[in-house]
Amino acid sequence: MGDAAAVRAVLASANPKKVAEIREILGGALDLVPRPPEVPDVVEDAPTFVGNARLKASALVAATGLAALADDSGIEVDALGGAPGVWSARYAGEGATDEDNVAKLLAALADRPDPADRTARFRCVLVLQQPDGTEVVADGAVEGRIATGPRGSGGFGYDPVFVPAEGDGRTFGEMDPAEKHAMSHRGRALAALLAALDGG
Ligand code: IMP
Repeated sequence: MGDAAAVRAVLASANPKKVAEIREILGGALDLVPRPPEVPDVVEDAPTFVGNARLKASALVAATGLAALADDSGIEVDALGGAPGVWSARYAGEGATDEDNVAKLLAALADRPDPADRTARFRCVLVLQQPDGTEVVADGAVEGRIATGPRGSGGFGYDPVFVPAEGDGRTFGEMDPAEKHAMSHRGRALAALLAALDGG
């Protein structure tokens, strides 16, 4: 595959904010088709990001007969043994809002005010699966720490409490989308995917 722009794939994510980020980052680099609304959500019960991304991609390939691009992502907090990890979207329970999840994370770290005890990273794994079952897997990560309180209204999820180590102290929630994408796990995973498609 030498031309990423020629790759047409159904985008598996149903999270509108993630879909918007993926489209913003990719521009026209891949021809992404929205997920048909009648395709049901898969149960994301794999223990790893790549396992969950693969579940989502293969369900969509089976339902549409087209190639599918799926991502799975989350935040790993060292002091919590890597939690919430693959459970990030449901950390505060099924149907939890971003605010619920952030509140639970801040409460879990309340007795650890030292920034050195609040290290964390976002991870994103992408699986592009073809109807013949062949796939390209790409991942990205960004290191940082959990702030002591939310700051900024940009992005989604844990962005208001994530301070990237390579930034200037602002949270992802305080950054412009382009600033976040330049160092984010999702930006890096998508860049790696495009590189794999262009070089493959
Ligand atoms: P997924 O839809 O199973 O991949 O869930 C990912 C969850 O991880 C999201 O619901 C957010 O809680 C969190 N997450 C992943 N990427 C980001 C990000 O870029 N910013 C903030 N939170 C994120």
